[in-house]
Amino acid sequence: MRPYILAENTWNSIRETAHTAAILPWGACEAHNYHLPYGTDIIEADRVAAEGARIAWEKGAKVIVLPTIPFGVNTGQPDIKLDMNMNPSTQMSVLRDVIEVLNRQGIHKLIILNSHGGNDFKTMIRELGLQYPEMFLCTCNWFNSVDQSKFFENRDDHAGEMETSVILHLAPEFVRPLNEAGDGQAKKFTITAMREGWAWAERTWSKVTKDTGVGNPEKATREKGEKFFKECTEKVGEFFYQVAVTSRDDLYA
Ligand SMILES: [Zn+2]
Repeated sequence: MRPYILAENTWNSIRETAHTAAILPWGACEAHNYHLPYGTDIIEADRVAAEGARIAWEKGAKVIVLPTIPFGVNTGQPDIKLDMNMNPSTQMSVLRDVIEVLNRQGIHKLIILNSHGGNDFKTMIRELGLQYPEMFLCTCNWFNSVDQSKFFENRDDHAGEMETSVILHLAPEFVRPLNEAGDGQAKKFTITAMREGWAWAERTWSKVTKDTGVGNPEKATREKGEKFFKECTEKVGEFFYQVAVTSRDDLYA
């Protein structure tokens, strides 16, 4: 029983703890090339949140990890079998209900730990922050917490070298042999501004990549995944800790 994981605890231990911050891991259920499982983002969200919370807890912060939400925004993959889209408006409703509970019970900080590129909680946080002024709401993408180029040769957007390495570390039993993986080749937008990154449109995933991956996984190793996971979770743990112990009056200096 880990005291910072809600699902592993009983009422008595939860009742007696004065929690200051809740952590909501958010994943997605979607195809990850031919070699990684649909639950890749869920596994990452679970494990990064738990390890980050362990670090924060051991430094003295009373954080609590809520169960991972398994469905993410997959609006660009309607033709990819069993990619389980949850619309942004549904996510907003889920988030509002979670915040309603925390707000009522006096846990006034919520950190959304995001594990999926298609999820974007910023605009929701702006709107819900107005509705729940006592709540401090924030979000982070754990996979951006450290510079990936220090660890990996090929840039990873989806199911590439980084994610494959991380799942080889966290759940190797679910990874197919790498010679079964596609090369994760992806087409780029023909419109210049979109290629440059300052204009944006959603990509129709099946027109961009053949194997659903974006990024070549061939150089992935368990060792790279372990090092990257450790460095990310140290950053995430420190973030959880700082959010939990910083008062609203001390947010700016
Ligand atoms: Zn993923």
